[in-house]
Amino acid sequence: MNGDPSKLNCAEFQAQLPELVSSGAEAAAHPHLKSCQRCRALLADLETIAEAARQLFPSVEPPDEVWEHIESAIRQEEEGESRQPPVPHRP
Ligand SMILES: [Zn+2]
Repeated sequence: MNGDPSKLNCAEFQAQLPELVSSGAEAAAHPHLKSCQRCRALLADLETIAEAARQLFPSVEPPDEVWEHIESAIRQEEEGESRQPPVPHRP
């Protein structure tokens, strides 16, 4: 039952997600995301929050590679949907 990352349920995955992102690991490559669109959306939200947190707490410096990845993802999203207002997250 334990030991296979693709068998995680959403709650288990989401519990690991902040750690995955802050560790610099490729959270987007996690096996759970291949089968779960909801958690993919959650990861995108988390990255947006992480970006806001960086602006609020500039003294906390995560690895540069993480932020380059996050910033380029956000830039692409803004360019692609610049005319759309942000859609509130719904469960
Ligand atoms: Zn999930």
